[in-house]
Amino acid sequence: MASPIEMIAEYEEEAEARLALSQLDAAGIHAEVHAGESEYPPHAQVYWVIVASDDAQLARQVLSQGATIPEDWETAAEACVEGWICVGCDTEVDRQEMICPQCGTSKEQLRQDEDEDDD
Ligand SMILES: [Zn+2]
Repeated sequence: MASPIEMIAEYEEEAEARLALSQLDAAGIHAEVHAGESEYPPHAQVYWVIVASDDAQLARQVLSQGATIPEDWETAAEACVEGWICVGCDTEVDRQEMICPQCGTSKEQLRQDEDEDDD
């Protein structure tokens, strides 16, 4: 009698699926990679990582802990590129703010100073 199985992860690259498999193996969880076609985009090759249903919860934890990139990396990256530096006090201000919350210098002031530098 076959044990119930569960798909816990989906990858576009077989190498990524194999990496997940090795992480699970290291944690003592038996897993398998199944190749198939995704529904969207249609006919794209995908690789599913399958484990016994009893192991599914633990397996998800192993994979989430195995990730080397923090979950909020995207937010952190956006903060790096989207802010502007206030000319009045050197504070990094959120891109959506038009006026520096620290000293009240406007973003427009920043542009005017750049124009003056060109002269
Ligand atoms: Zn300021």
